[in-house]
Amino acid sequence: SAKRVGRNNFTIYSPGLDEHANEFLRLEIRLKQALQSNGLMLFYQPIMDVQSGHLAGVEALVRLRDENGQLRSPNDFIPIAESAGLINQLGEWVAAEACRQHERWREAGLPPLSISINISSSQFRQRTFASHLAEAIDRYGIDPACLQVEITESAVMDNLPAAIAALNEIRSTGIRIALDDFGTGYSSLNYLSSLPLDKLKIDQSFIKKIVSHRPSRSITDAILALGRSLNLKVVGEGIESEQAMDYLREHGCDQAQGYLFSHPLPPKDFEAWYWNRARQLH
Ligand code: C2E
Ligand code: MG
Ligand code: MG
Ligand code: MG
Repeated sequence: SAKRVGRNNFTIYSPGLDEHANEFLRLEIRLKQALQSNGLMLFYQPIMDVQSGHLAGVEALVRLRDENGQLRSPNDFIPIAESAGLINQLGEWVAAEACRQHERWREAGLPPLSISINISSSQFRQRTFASHLAEAIDRYGIDPACLQVEITESAVMDNLPAAIAALNEIRSTGIRIALDDFGTGYSSLNYLSSLPLDKLKIDQSFIKKIVSHRPSRSITDAILALGRSLNLKVVGEGIESEQAMDYLREHGCDQAQGYLFSHPLPPKDFEAWYWNRARQLH
């Protein structure tokens, strides 16, 4: 341990570790500020209906503006939000902001879009989570069927009985539920049938290799078959090529999301993307 190293214990504080700790602390401080002062943003990525080619909805993805004005990915700061006890506050902001955006878009003349929000495992273990969601929906007059929550397979598997209870509570309000990053979390098929779900999102790692790697195609096929037999919609994530899209279309995937259609966009840019597409379709 560090203590037994005695006088030499400075040797364990390599610059790498130090930098890592500093970065962590900096982001924690920044995150606290951001929660007080509008430093968080939601970006939106289109989700397409595979067969019709129409827009099926959007996924809201949170961004943090750091002190240099740079936008940070949630992979950098969600773990910090969790360990610093800020995740519930962040989650409430995300839910409320997504609902606010839904209202703004309706005011701007867009049809009522389906919005997905991501929730992390600790958030979803919070007893008040479902009621906060219901509150946000009420406040902005949103049809609950327009809201989806995405929860990762591994978060569900952490504590299955608690997950089932929480998901049932969320779903009873009319909100839909998607299992995110599916295929990486080792859930048994037996458990899967006991979860109140609407959607499976095939993990990007399989889609990325769909053209080059036969086992990834096999897993994708198996997930598509599973979705059909459990009556769940299946979404392919991380679609970057026409070939990947062709594969999913030919194999009966319901929805697709990826850079091929659009990167996640700030609300105004999404709106422009939407109208631009609408014009092209007419
Ligand atoms: P996710 O929910 O699986 O979201 C998909 C991620 O893949 C997003 O990264 C998105 O930008 C990225 N992506 C989409 N299409 C493509 C593609 O074609 N190629 C590639 N390479 N990537 C693509 P992002 O925005 O950095 O989010 C990372 C993760 O952070 C999300 O994974 C989600 O688990 C989590 N997250 C995002 N927003 C929130 C939030 O509001 N709350 C919580 N708790 N977690 C969030
Ligand atoms: Mg997601
Ligand atoms: Mg995912
Ligand atoms: Mg993910």
